Amino acid sequence: MVSRRHGRYEVLVIGGGVTGLTAAHHAARSGLSTALIEGEPLFGGQIATVEQLDGYPAVGALSGVDLAVDLVERCRSLGVAFHQAAIESLTVGGGSLVGLAAGERHRARAVVVASGARLKRLGVPGEDTLLGKGVSQCAWCDGHLYRGEDVAVIGGGDAAAQEALVLAGFCRRVYVVARSPLRAKPDYVNRLTRLDNVEFVWSSEVDEVLGSGAVEGVRLRGVR
Ligand SMILES: Cc1cc2nc3c(=O)[nH]c(=O)nc-3n(C[C@H](O)[C@H](O)[C@H](O)COP(=O)(O)OP(=O)(O)OC[C@H]3O[C@@H](n4cnc5c(N)ncnc54)[C@H](O)[C@@H]3O)c2cc1C
Repeated sequence: MVSRRHGRYEVLVIGGGVTGLTAAHHAARSGLSTALIEGEPLFGGQIATVEQLDGYPAVGALSGVDLAVDLVERCRSLGVAFHQAAIESLTVGGGSLVGLAAGERHRARAVVVASGARLKRLGVPGEDTLLGKGVSQCAWCDGHLYRGEDVAVIGGGDAAAQEALVLAGFCRRVYVVARSPLRAKPDYVNRLTRLDNVEFVWSSEVDEVLGSGAVEGVRLRGVR
């Protein structure tokens, strides 16, 4: 049965990542009745996949999950209403903004859209069929499944470097496949290059993820 929930708030925040949680927190702290709507079952968004946050001014080391949980708790204590639903459209009606999701209608005087970004996919054969069977977009969540094994990280930016650093802690060998020299922060690059079990595969991109039932490897092609 489709649950029909309707709400009326001063502020409606769409997206339960760190941006949406922070916006909801500030709105509620200002005394505004606030609802936060997240399309996924878990709040936190991308930050919840980060083992140790870098560049976030916190006292001591902080994981993304800890930050998300803390923000959720702060919002709850301020009375923010949490809903799980994917907002499909925004309209104006009856003097307010209306966010519509399947079977739900939420009205507000102001809407904050904090819908974030989607993690980029490679778009190569084998990627979709082997998702969850060796293909992952979160080293911190899934990496332990590949403890002691050889893994490949595709990409040369900050996120790829962070994922490679996590995996190097417990995988046998980490291949970092990059089209060009790493664009990641110098600190990440320095740490990676000092690790014996990290090997760089330069000027390459993935043509296909290989395997039937589980990932067995990747086929690469050279790029200029
Ligand atoms: C591997 C990795 C490592 C990173 N490391 C760091 C780091 O060390 N330090 C740092 O500062 N940053 C880091 N980042 C970047 C950081 O995670 C992101 O910048 C940040 O999480 C973005 O937050 P956001 O709330 O703007 O978006 P998102 O986290 O993308 O959240 C948006 C949310 O909106 C929801 N949503 C979207 N559309 C709808 C809809 N129609 N209805 C309802 N909900 C919707 C989504 O489900 C999602 O939960 C890292 C990112 C990655 C991938």
